[in-house]
Amino acid sequence: MIVILKPDIPKDAPEVQQVLDLASRYEGVTAKLHVVEGATRSLIEIYLIGSTVTVPVEPFAALDCVERVVRVSAKYRLIGRHKGQLEAVGFQYQGLTFDQDSLHVVPGLCAVDTRDHVAQVFRALSQHGIQTARMGAYKPRTSPYDFQGLGKECLPYVFELAGKYGIRVIAMEITHESHIDEIKAALDKAGSPAGVMLQIGTRNAQNFELLKHVGQQQRFPVLFKRGMGITLEESLNACEYVASEGNRKIVFCLRGMKTNLGDPHRNFVDFSHVPVVKRLTRLPVCVDPSHSVGRKELAPDGLTDIHHATAQGVIAGANMVLVDFHPNPARALCDGPQALTLEELDLYLEDIRIVREAYERRRALAARAAAQAAAPAA
Ligand code: PEP
Ligand code: MN
Repeated sequence: MIVILKPDIPKDAPEVQQVLDLASRYEGVTAKLHVVEGATRSLIEIYLIGSTVTVPVEPFAALDCVERVVRVSAKYRLIGRHKGQLEAVGFQYQGLTFDQDSLHVVPGLCAVDTRDHVAQVFRALSQHGIQTARMGAYKPRTSPYDFQGLGKECLPYVFELAGKYGIRVIAMEITHESHIDEIKAALDKAGSPAGVMLQIGTRNAQNFELLKHVGQQQRFPVLFKRGMGITLEESLNACEYVASEGNRKIVFCLRGMKTNLGDPHRNFVDFSHVPVVKRLTRLPVCVDPSHSVGRKELAPDGLTDIHHATAQGVIAGANMVLVDFHPNPARALCDGPQALTLEELDLYLEDIRIVREAYERRRALAARAAAQAAAPAA
């Protein structure tokens, strides 16, 4: 059960204590407090955990400070919307808003290989007004003999160059909790010129200990990638581990499902799940067309499958696009065949603008239709 307080009541207000005192009267129930920080206001949600089936809603709803009481149906209670009873929750990071209405394009290297390539990517992004990038330092590879990423060695120049080119947020996968400290140390040493969004890759989607670690820290938001071979429900429950440890700055990423039925793509593109995840959860939703499609093949209409998959995600309302770009894909040490070149950035971004505009028009159309349906007949 979730007790939602009226906006802008501070954490230490007597009203909060009043709700906690009431909750303590019910045996086997513990109360956990969460502050939801919105762009313009913050509100407190008090989660009643344990045997709440027999706890009545009315005494809580009757308190002046309470806006609403919601009975929770799904196991992913913090990230869930619970049949539309709760609104989406976004977050601010590095001056940018990540929520179910925003759209950020996050292009960059699958794996950092040279300083020069990092500089070239950041320069191109800044020329296009993009302040978000992906940069892989720690790479989970299928074979131990493949390039494993440069690790902490590349962090000093990645952060220095991010500062130079005005990149505010870098999505960076981590595969072990020690990487969080390495990133923190390198950022602090560089004077924190940029922020990092900690990416949990599909292979670690159910690495519950790693999920708990990224959940226990509040400094970095988390980009959680759906597990490639588990159900959506299982991925949502795994993602809940992050929130349950206290960090609610989460973006949920679709990146395709592993099945031969998706051939010839690397994974079966699952971007029709964008609206599903937006309906089931309060989180912004990202799509990764590069790791979904896995190859840069041209369709007869002159656009690559990666462009088409991107468009499918964006027209369905995706809030973030994580995409591989490389100045020289033939020389990339990881995933070169799916990387777009910097010369292709302009077309790619323009294509996204067209599709986003179409999505916004579709959304406005639906809103008008709903308003008409609700209006009393003349
Ligand atoms: C990546 O984004 O670099 C990556 C490895 O993706 P995924 O975990 O989706 O395979
Ligand atoms: Mn990759």
